[in-house]
Amino acid sequence: MNSLMWFRQDLRVADNPALVAACDFAIGNNSHLRAVYFVTPSQWAQHDVAPIQIDFMQRHVNLLAQALAALGIQLDVVHVQDFAEVQEVLTTYIEKHQIGAVFAGNEPEINERRRDSALIDSGLPLTLIDQDCVLAPETVKNLAGGMYKVFTPFAKKWKSIANQRAIITKRVPAPMATALPSPDDIVFHCDKVSSDLWPAGEGVAKRILDQFLASQVADYHVDRDIPALEGTSRLSPYLAIGVISSRQCVAAILARYPEALVDDACPAKTWLNELIWREFYRHLLVAFPRLSMGCNFNELGDGIAWRNNADEFNAWCDGQTGYPLVDAAMRQLNQTGWMHNRLRMVVASFLTKHLLIDWRWGERYFRQKLIDGDLAANNGGWQWSAGTGCDAQPYFRVFNPMTQSSKFDPDASFIKRYVTEVSGWSLADIHLPKTVNVNDLFGQRLDEGYPQPIVEHKMARLRAIEVLSALKRG
Ligand code: FAD
Repeated sequence: MNSLMWFRQDLRVADNPALVAACDFAIGNNSHLRAVYFVTPSQWAQHDVAPIQIDFMQRHVNLLAQALAALGIQLDVVHVQDFAEVQEVLTTYIEKHQIGAVFAGNEPEINERRRDSALIDSGLPLTLIDQDCVLAPETVKNLAGGMYKVFTPFAKKWKSIANQRAIITKRVPAPMATALPSPDDIVFHCDKVSSDLWPAGEGVAKRILDQFLASQVADYHVDRDIPALEGTSRLSPYLAIGVISSRQCVAAILARYPEALVDDACPAKTWLNELIWREFYRHLLVAFPRLSMGCNFNELGDGIAWRNNADEFNAWCDGQTGYPLVDAAMRQLNQTGWMHNRLRMVVASFLTKHLLIDWRWGERYFRQKLIDGDLAANNGGWQWSAGTGCDAQPYFRVFNPMTQSSKFDPDASFIKRYVTEVSGWSLADIHLPKTVNVNDLFGQRLDEGYPQPIVEHKMARLRAIEVLSALKRG
């Protein structure tokens, strides 16, 4: 009986336990190993997967096909519409190729889990391997045996468990057969936007990781808040589609800083914490499937009377709110498919609190644009910002976009990169748009073609606190 490796959001040959298991099965049974990848345009559209992320996936599937061919493994790329069709096609596929075992990595999202359960229930010989997190969902539990709802104790427990384990990455499998000829170019037949700004490849991701750890991680706790600097790793596009694994990241930290899991003074502490946030949100998705279905984590959020003004939403999307930092951030997203974390928090707060627009509108727009779009982190970030989430920012904390601007982009060098209309303005005017109190000028164009602020900060802050007090407990 032959075996099959089913690639999903794990587009790599290094540290891929499902691939290793599939190879071991083939070797143990003296049989043949194939690999498959499904292109699912309707499903991706339903999940709002960004065309730039689809392009990035296409590039990596091509590289994966080449890497697998060198190992003597053929990758079949199959177009279907959605997960429902996968079941039908996969059943026929395994009969045709006499496959007795299918291996794949576990995924935390509800539709993916339902797809896998349906396949297993239908008798498909699918083995799911936990490889999406360093510590699998449902293995980091509180004293009552449930999922943590606060990050800090989760992180503490996560580190204590990780510290008792050997965090070792899996080898790239040895060739299974003589190398196959170089595969033909693989084209995904769906909407794509060029991701060429982002270099592709497992080797590239590994180099970014190594360079970041060698020269930036120690200053990360300070530099990560300054959007004008390259102070963060920019590994998120690669982590989101599994070109590199979080275990590779944590193992690389530990290789350099063996004390990282126990020593609070470790220079890599802050960055390690961000990787643990990633795990926290993925564990939450499994523990609370309603998070994959657009529900507020905090049910009191159901009572919020969002304003949902479409014109204001469009101004936010287009980077035309009249707040230069907010607009620079949105233009960075629209032009590059990525946004700095500090700015994600600023624009999410602005949308949900200043404009009182439902966080789901922002979550969806981000997903449609982000090259690193990821349901768990995106939903977690949006609900954190709106105050509806698990361990969220309190509803009464409203980021002041002007203070954020002067604090985190003091010389406005980031703002000027994207909002060229204000490049001749004084720093004071950039950070504190001067007509901010002139109500009848809201949103009108200035001579430079740049709008007046679409909302006044003080009023918006008080309005947000009043409306969002629906989240107040008791
Ligand atoms: P680094 O600072 O170098 O961090 C390393 C890695 O840790 C990241 O690549 C990411 O995988 C993980 N990470 C870092 N911060 C977080 C966080 N707060 N939550 C979860 N994981 C984190 N991240 C996504 O990967 N995809 C998303 O769709 C996404 N949407 C977001 C939406 C909002 C509103 C907010 C506030 C945050 C969102 N994040 C998302 C988290 C974070 O902004 C990005 O992971 C980070 O900016 C990516 O840049 P980096 O790779 O340089 O991160």
